[in-house]
Amino acid sequence: MILIDGKKAAAELREKLKHEVTQLKAKYNKVPGLTVILIGDLTPSQIYVRNKEKSANEVGLKSEVIKYPDEVEEKTVLEKIEELNKDETVSGILVQLPLPKHIDKQKVIETILPSKDVDGFHPMNVGNLSSGYESSVPCTPLGCYLLIKKVEHNLNGKKAVIVGRSNLNGKPMTQLLLKENCTVTITHSKTKDLKAECLEADIIVAAVGIPELVKGDWVKKGTIVIDVGINKTDKGIVGDVDFNEVSKNAKALTPVPGGVGPMTIACLLKNTIECFKRSQI
Ligand code: NAP
Repeated sequence: MILIDGKKAAAELREKLKHEVTQLKAKYNKVPGLTVILIGDLTPSQIYVRNKEKSANEVGLKSEVIKYPDEVEEKTVLEKIEELNKDETVSGILVQLPLPKHIDKQKVIETILPSKDVDGFHPMNVGNLSSGYESSVPCTPLGCYLLIKKVEHNLNGKKAVIVGRSNLNGKPMTQLLLKENCTVTITHSKTKDLKAECLEADIIVAAVGIPELVKGDWVKKGTIVIDVGINKTDKGIVGDVDFNEVSKNAKALTPVPGGVGPMTIACLLKNTIECFKRSQI
């Protein structure tokens, strides 16, 4: 079985992006800029944002974090986004989720200029992705897609089963695999027989949030299995896939941690660079 090393793949991607930033700097005499807005003091969000900033600096991007306290008014955040939309040194804007309850997430997402929406959450980018046009693609599914392509370049006609239909993961994952000519089944909490669906799959992407939901006997021999889940349990962090059991049948499998996670941030940097390049045309 191939253990899909997300840490290594992310390091390779960052190296490639670093080289690209050097070339862009030589060509345009400026570098792509990423601005992250962090509201409140949730520990996981602080850690994510610190890692994003560190990685952005590593590849040579201009990076900035704007912090607000939990009780910041929605209007203040929206005005800041409008200001960043107009700032030519800012190629990408990301507002770290989740947001405090008094701030309307959708309003925040829709205020970010689609051309600077590095998370790919703006309805314009969602629509462009589903229509097959150029768009920012949400970072986690983009990372999953790149990992799958590392294992198997030609996905023509493969049967893919996506477990979970979130806007963040399952739905954009479906679009990416459709574009690769996979036959995609998207499953969710009301799916009648999830095991039977999974047993049909050449590729399974699990993004559910239930520890070890996907069992060994749900996976036929030779399947590529991507585990997006991050679940805190008594035995530590585990994914949505029963790693030990599934590894007996899978052709390739991502570990948790060290699989999809590291690719997410690398893809954010990739999206920032793509936004910069599109803005120079
Ligand atoms: P989410 O928004 O909570 O969506 C979960 C999806 O799973 C929903 O569509 C839900 O169906 C479906 N589901 C729930 N129970 C199910 C069941 N028994 N059988 C089949 N489907 C079921 O979750 P998310 O934001 O996509 O996150 C999923 C997991 O990925 C979480 O563990 C999260 O921590 C992790 N994650 C990891 C990364 C990373 O970088 N590695 C990034 C983001 C998220 P319904 O729509 O019917 O409710």
